[in-house]
Amino acid sequence: MLSREQIVAREQQKLIDERERIAGALERLREALKVEVDVDAEEGDPDLVEREKNVALVNQLERKREAIQTALRAIEKGKYGICERCDQEINPERLEVRPDATLCVRCQVEVEKLIKRGILPRSQQERF
Ligand SMILES: [Zn+2]
Repeated sequence: MLSREQIVAREQQKLIDERERIAGALERLREALKVEVDVDAEEGDPDLVEREKNVALVNQLERKREAIQTALRAIEKGKYGICERCDQEINPERLEVRPDATLCVRCQVEVEKLIKRGILPRSQQERF
C-alpha cells in the first residue's frame, strides 16, 4: 500500500505531466487560430466552424490548467487532498476525477445544499 506522501508525489507528477500536455496543446491551438479566416466566410463555413471549435477548446484547456495550478499550489502547501471544511482526507478516487477538489464528497454535497437554499453564494461553488 502506498503512503499518503507517495500518493501525493504521484499526483504531483501526474499534474505536472498534464500541465505540460495542456501547454503543448494550447500552443498548437493558438498557432491554428493565427491562420486568417477568409473575410468572406459565411456562417457555417467549415473554416469558421473549425475556428469556433478551437476557441472553445482553448477556453476549456485554460480552465483545466488553472485547476491544475490550484492543485499544485495546494501540494506545495501540504494541503492537497485534505478537505477545506472538515480536514478529512479526500477520497483518492475523487481526486483522480477532480484533481482540484478542495472538499470531500460529503462536504461537497453539504455545500451544494447550502447554495441551493441560498445560504451560501453561488460563487462559492466555483471554488469547489
Ligand atoms: Zn469534508
